[in-house]
Amino acid sequence: MNTVVSPAPITAVAPAPTDKRAVERLLAPLDHLAENSPHFLSKSFGHFQSAGQSYSLPRYVYLGPKGGGDTLRIGIFATIHGDEPEGALALTRFVTALEQNRELAKGYALFLYPVCNPTGFEDNTRHSRSGKDLNREFWNDSPEPEVQFLETEIWTHAFHGIINLHADDTSEGLYGYVNGAVLSEHLLEPALREAEQVIPRNKRRKIDGFPARNGIIYHSYNGVLRSVPGLARPPFELTLETPQLAPFHRQVDAFSAALKTILVEYRYLMAVAQNI
Ligand SMILES: [Zn+2]
Repeated sequence: MNTVVSPAPITAVAPAPTDKRAVERLLAPLDHLAENSPHFLSKSFGHFQSAGQSYSLPRYVYLGPKGGGDTLRIGIFATIHGDEPEGALALTRFVTALEQNRELAKGYALFLYPVCNPTGFEDNTRHSRSGKDLNREFWNDSPEPEVQFLETEIWTHAFHGIINLHADDTSEGLYGYVNGAVLSEHLLEPALREAEQVIPRNKRRKIDGFPARNGIIYHSYNGVLRSVPGLARPPFELTLETPQLAPFHRQVDAFSAALKTILVEYRYLMAVAQNI
């Protein structure tokens, strides 16, 4: 047995978080990718306090190779429900795939928000530490700092597309919501088709209380994370939901497959639109 002499505890530094789910640990693989890639940047924003601790919202930007037209800006948001880290982990998988095949991201600037609810993630709760379901607070003069910072992001970047990643422990299959631009449906369908090679689709006619068609819901709750209301030309808006009780690695694979498909399909649809 080795005898290791522990150093005296250092009390002058900030106390380590007492939780077992530190955001930093969750994001370590993404940070590692950012440190080693010239086109993947880590740019946290939105500092706020909760219960005496400081937080910020993690943000990463992936810059794809230059395409023919305007750069397409896509925002991908995960873990707005703190107990759904699957999407955050899928983003690591997704960025790794982009690094291996940069052409997938050609023409895109991808803004990734892997942990939109850091206090909820630390506490392993759907709600933030203030007790709010942040995904019911958008565009409603919410006092929640996370929501205000994310709204500013959505205003500022004027995304062409917004994708939300969720995991639903009451569903036995994949499904999604479409909002915004009409073409959203034409992106979600192929994304689900690709992802259902990994996890079956939820074919029920009612999902999450809404009527559904082939795993697609055309309604949404008030206050969900989405684009600025009332835009004449809204971006495409998709929400992908994996069945949270499915094996974790399958959910990660399904998200990554869906996201890659959306990039390919949207670039294709934009190219077609420019030629008609
Ligand atoms: Zn959720």
